[in-house]
Amino acid sequence: MKLAVLGSGSRGNAVALRTQGHTLLVDAGFGPRALERRAEEAGVPLAPLAGIVLTHEHGDHARGAAALAARHDCPVFASAGTLHALAGGGPRSILLPPYGGALTIGPFTVSAARTAHDAREPVAVAITSLAGHKIGVAYDLGRPTAAVRHLLRDCSVLLLEANHDEVLLRTGPYPASVRQRIGGSTGHLSNRAAAALAAELCGPRLEAVVLLHLSEQCNTAVLARRAVVAALRERQFRGRVLVASQTTPLAALSLRGPSQLTLALPAAGPTPPAR
Ligand SMILES: [Zn+2]
Ligand SMILES: [Zn+2]
Repeated sequence: MKLAVLGSGSRGNAVALRTQGHTLLVDAGFGPRALERRAEEAGVPLAPLAGIVLTHEHGDHARGAAALAARHDCPVFASAGTLHALAGGGPRSILLPPYGGALTIGPFTVSAARTAHDAREPVAVAITSLAGHKIGVAYDLGRPTAAVRHLLRDCSVLLLEANHDEVLLRTGPYPASVRQRIGGSTGHLSNRAAAALAAELCGPRLEAVVLLHLSEQCNTAVLARRAVVAALRERQFRGRVLVASQTTPLAALSLRGPSQLTLALPAAGPTPPAR
């Protein structure tokens, strides 16, 4: 299995997973051509596209879904609330299973759990490959619900929101109402909350944590990574902590065996060297 974050932040999010010659996209928050270009840059071709799984309807996650699905003639998978908010989600939309269930999409198995974010019926997702690698994708979390925490146990790679530094959010440029929305229990996860969640979810199979959806105003890659690395160090975590960027795809993590992970990082990536 290969996975690449094609971009992440308030201006667009997409994660591409590829195994057995098929690609699955989690979110499509860029236009279809931008998604194809970013996937190519990341070294994970989109075609053939088995489907697009949407976490929720906000434009930074769903903007390109309908057009890309039409271009690749593939289904869009989402919760009932998300599909409703997207006016049905297109002719080939399919409901994600309720929490506790699983859906097979080609060589991928997808499970979902409701998040507390301020959208119609937002979810975090976990995708398992035939080889048993489990990838968790959880952003726009608000606060981590019990269902989300259960869904994300035993992941090989955890892609987790680290939206803001709490001090930078308090002292940053946003008006009080926006600060309250971002930092509230239906908004976004702070670095501190992401660090606590990553530490809680750190199990023997966890090989890499990728931090997503960093605020460009109220966070930096260094602050986010420092918080999460410190928390994971206490759990004796020996894997990698990477930070996804809004502008540049983070290419491409390859998981080859049950516990072997080979990382190929982009030359100009925003991730500081490992300590
Ligand atoms: Zn978002
Ligand atoms: Zn959102």
